[in-house]
Amino acid sequence: RYALGPKISDWDGQRRRWLAQNTGFPATVPGGKPRILLVTGSQPGPCDNPLGDHYLLKTTKNKIDYCRLHGIEIVHNLAHLDTELAGYWAKLPLLRRLMLSHPEVEWIWWMDSDALFTDMAFELPLSRYDGHNLIIHGYQDLLFEKHSWIALNTGSFLFRNCQWSLDLLDAWAPMGPKGFIRDEAGKILTANLKGRPAFEADDQSALIYLLLSQKEKWMEKVFIENSYYLHGFWAGLVDKYEDMMENHHPGLGDERWPFVTHFVGCKPCGSYGDYPVERCLKSMERAFNFADNQVLRLYGFGHKGLESPKIKRIRNQTTKPIDDKENLDVKSKISTTS
Ligand code: UDP
Ligand code: MN
Repeated sequence: RYALGPKISDWDGQRRRWLAQNTGFPATVPGGKPRILLVTGSQPGPCDNPLGDHYLLKTTKNKIDYCRLHGIEIVHNLAHLDTELAGYWAKLPLLRRLMLSHPEVEWIWWMDSDALFTDMAFELPLSRYDGHNLIIHGYQDLLFEKHSWIALNTGSFLFRNCQWSLDLLDAWAPMGPKGFIRDEAGKILTANLKGRPAFEADDQSALIYLLLSQKEKWMEKVFIENSYYLHGFWAGLVDKYEDMMENHHPGLGDERWPFVTHFVGCKPCGSYGDYPVERCLKSMERAFNFADNQVLRLYGFGHKGLESPKIKRIRNQTTKPIDDKENLDVKSKISTTS
């Protein structure tokens, strides 16, 4: 049976001792919030389509912006730590490695390269998750009643840095090894999950299958979130950004102003996808600019339109920048409508 690494069984104790001995690296950030590490990544080589690389840069800039504004650390990985778990499975060994190398991190947050923050003011309601170790977007009924292969989305989720999470990663990984195992596991997943096309095992289906088949073991610590878009499917959102700008403001995170817009099924970096690449690229441009407006606004600029990389000034310059700037925290600065 495939394993991510040597079995660790006392991580909570090891981590607790490390934190006690390294008080200069506390698991909270100034202000008292838990320390979060956002992890993303992309394939080691160039995209098949050069435009894909341009959009990878934009989605990375978008994540850097969000993290900077909210005191979150960020890792962008290009390596395959385990060649058996290449592709979408690459996040598993990476998350394990980073948890072990960063005992100071309380929450480790995976976000796909093709997901963008579209609400720059929204913050995770972490206190809601006190008793939970895995936070993932999805729907309880789609999972346990429908057994749907899209009941959960593994494009954006958080693990608490603890033994439970290492155990879950261990239980999740065995369907991942490329080749015979992944192909055969794909057949089991397609046979058991509603709506799943026939293809090799993917990390999302494998997690859904694991939680369905071992509900008692895991679900107590899993928080299925849908009160805001920790993951939001792009197709239903990207054409509504203008309406949102007219009627709402950042900071809501839900369908009024989605926290994350995720381009599931778009593969501008690879050669095949479920949607026409032009539609994907145009929609990604819109999502990027929608988000970037919230950043540029802090500095007095905005995009000319959601489909334009060009920007314009939205405030007059002043000789007293400190007095004239709204003396507000970043969150209020982004979400104020004035
Ligand atoms: N990924 C990676 N290394 C790779 C290939 C993929 O880190 O070699 C990551 C990348 O962030 C990508 C994610 O795996 O966004 C999942 O794949 P994708 O977004 O294409 O799947 P989808 O969301 O469309 O199901
Ligand atoms: Mn994705």
